[in-house]
Amino acid sequence: MKSRNLLMIPGPIEFEHEVLQSMSSATPSHVDPKFISTFHHSLNFMKEVWQAPSGQAFIVAGSGTFAMEMAAANLIEQGDKVLVISTGYFGLRYADILKRYTVDVDILEAEVGDVVAIEDIEQQLKTKSYKLLCFTHVDTSTAVLNDAKAIGKLAQKHNVLTLMDAVCSVAGEEIKQEEWGLDIVVSASQKAIGVPPGLALLVASPKAIQSFKQRKTKVQNYYADWTNWLPIMKAYENKEASYFATPPVNLIIALEKSLEMIIAEGLEQRFERHRKAGKAMRVALRALGLELVSKNEKLSANTLSAPFYPDNIDGTTFLKSINEQGVTLAGGLLPNLKGKYFRIGHMGSVNQNDLLATVGAIEKALEKHNHQQDLGVGTKKILELF
Ligand code: PMP
Repeated sequence: MKSRNLLMIPGPIEFEHEVLQSMSSATPSHVDPKFISTFHHSLNFMKEVWQAPSGQAFIVAGSGTFAMEMAAANLIEQGDKVLVISTGYFGLRYADILKRYTVDVDILEAEVGDVVAIEDIEQQLKTKSYKLLCFTHVDTSTAVLNDAKAIGKLAQKHNVLTLMDAVCSVAGEEIKQEEWGLDIVVSASQKAIGVPPGLALLVASPKAIQSFKQRKTKVQNYYADWTNWLPIMKAYENKEASYFATPPVNLIIALEKSLEMIIAEGLEQRFERHRKAGKAMRVALRALGLELVSKNEKLSANTLSAPFYPDNIDGTTFLKSINEQGVTLAGGLLPNLKGKYFRIGHMGSVNQNDLLATVGAIEKALEKHNHQQDLGVGTKKILELF
């Protein structure tokens, strides 16, 4: 392990040993009674973690983008009116996906690092009878956190279905899907949920399922179609064997393990741990003189941070220097700011030592690039906060 780098990108993340170990058991049949029980538990655990007791959970092979597509394909018919609130790269991706299913997609785009004000969203909702309001909880390109509760309540007031991309937030940021009136919350395995990439996960409210059942046209995507998947999820819920397309058996075994660990930690404790990690990272980065893409504390995500490089530093060589210190970080994702900033994931199994190692590596890289701080300025902040 001594040449192992610490993976601090915003997904995939460092996974818990117990989760990785659980994956390495011999692959059972997808209709093996033990696996049926694993699938059954995973669906139930998801509803607990999403805080959506009346929801319908779906577990399907695919990445987060497929979870996004599955929600769009099943909810939207040609001509439906959709409003997308974009806080970065993934908001625009969702708009692109939705445009495959209807021509009527409006986008309200926030300034980089900011959110769209609730009043502006409300104003827009009054202009048309939208079927769906779509937004990103944490946009991984900007590390901006939307107020999911306020948006959920607003959409309910205007009788609009809500679709939240929570790929970078479920099990890291607080989400109360049912209480907040969110209809579909989509995610993926490889971030705060803590399972290697490959699972598209979502929970749909009874209202979303009803809307799907009232469709007048066929779902335009065979693999995504809930007509195929709903009976499968229902079967596993009832502990019965069923088949539409082979489930990624070992990943679902890992999902059961990870969700079990998340629930054992306690959701409130877990959110608090992420709040603390996020705050510690931001305080340390600021102490090193690095500015963040997210405009202020209130709208900063706790699952990742996105700092700008200091002036006159080449991002590629800077990230390489950090990498040489044993920590892997990610470059910027917004096309217009690509070489201007980088991204640090701090979710899932993240602990104080990971934060110290990461900030220490950033300090050494700053020193190497002659942006000298006294070494220890950032790490000290983390030690103080913990
Ligand atoms: N939405 C958000 C907010 C994401 O962070 C990501 C992945 N970075 C995606 C969607 C897409 O997920 P995937 O890469 O698993 O397809």
